[in-house]
Amino acid sequence: MHPPVALYIHVPFCAARCPYCDFNTCAGLEALFEPYAAALVAEIRRAGAALNRPSARTIFIGGGTPTALPPALLARVLAACRGAFEVATDAEITGEANPGTVDQARFAALREMEVNRLSMGVQSFDDGELRWLGRIHTAEEAVTAFAAARAAGFDNINLDFIFGLPNQDPATWDRTLAQAIDLGPEHLSLYSLTVEDGTPLADQVRRGFIPKPDDDLAADLYLAACETLAAAGYVQYEISNWARGISESANQRISESQIRNSQSAIRNQCRHNLVYWRRELYLGFGAGAHSFAGERRWWNVRSVPAYIQRIGGGKSPEAGRETIERRLAMGETLMLGLRLVTEGVPDARFEARFGVGLDAAFGPQIRRLVAQGLLERLPDRVRLTPTARLLGNRVFAEFLPGE
Ligand code: SF4
Repeated sequence: MHPPVALYIHVPFCAARCPYCDFNTCAGLEALFEPYAAALVAEIRRAGAALNRPSARTIFIGGGTPTALPPALLARVLAACRGAFEVATDAEITGEANPGTVDQARFAALREMEVNRLSMGVQSFDDGELRWLGRIHTAEEAVTAFAAARAAGFDNINLDFIFGLPNQDPATWDRTLAQAIDLGPEHLSLYSLTVEDGTPLADQVRRGFIPKPDDDLAADLYLAACETLAAAGYVQYEISNWARGISESANQRISESQIRNSQSAIRNQCRHNLVYWRRELYLGFGAGAHSFAGERRWWNVRSVPAYIQRIGGGKSPEAGRETIERRLAMGETLMLGLRLVTEGVPDARFEARFGVGLDAAFGPQIRRLVAQGLLERLPDRVRLTPTARLLGNRVFAEFLPGE
């Protein structure tokens, strides 16, 4: 029997392109909505049939802006998933949404198709920052969208934010966090602004029109967020991700309260993304989507018209594949697993996967990083120290071949 899979569905359409974004997305291709959805349906059906309808434990509809697609088309794609895969009754089904492309009717439609987790790219609650980021919505519209999502019945909502804009005022970041906490989403993702090659933002920075984001400022804002969110009951479980615990009454015994708080936070973690960090099996559908199965990964052609054409012509949309050699697979397991700041990389999981212990595979690297105060060696796992959360890339490089 095939092990359960996680499904990722890529919707590459956005109402407008944000200048910092390097995702595989495009604006103004409404004419392709229908043929693209049909191609997704065909690809999903083929994959399910080839694997003999395995069970699916999570579905993540990402993008792009899935809510740019008419709900009827999204419903068709999800129905194809249910037909081609045995979708678990408790499956986490996430839909990404842009606050500028949603209203209560659209949220209700998502709920009707049994999307049970919503991930909204809010990015900031400051209108000046939102304009700078090229977002199509205001702070107020994001608040309205959040209320509409709650009213439609979403009880598992993530909000994404970006920090580290050039010369960002820490007070503005504080206000954004305060407002986010006030809304009380179950999950928060905070990403520092990165200047990605080939984006309009990179071009502006290269030409000197915009200053480069300042790493020290970004680090200060990140640390401030860690403190603020912890005080508000959000438990950090990944370098950029926090899950909400529960508010406790003041007279509760501390130990009980802590246990309940962390159990609640575990429930609110993103189960789909845990699959990536734990380096487990996932299948991606759509233009540019990546899939991963143990020693192999493969990816689809990026261009939307080429993807539609290939599927329509009965051809595979695959654009490339890679066999991952053992040493790289081990390194990736550390690189991804250490992002989980509490869980880290358990010895048992590593050994079950590779037939060799963590210390046998990476003893010198682990000892060196422990001595530098960047890694904790617990009896059953390794994980980043709090200091290393800002220096993840330096730690990860130690485990990758040729670094
Ligand atoms: S809305 Fe999201 S996916 Fe679309 S361009 Fe902006 S950042 Fe990228």
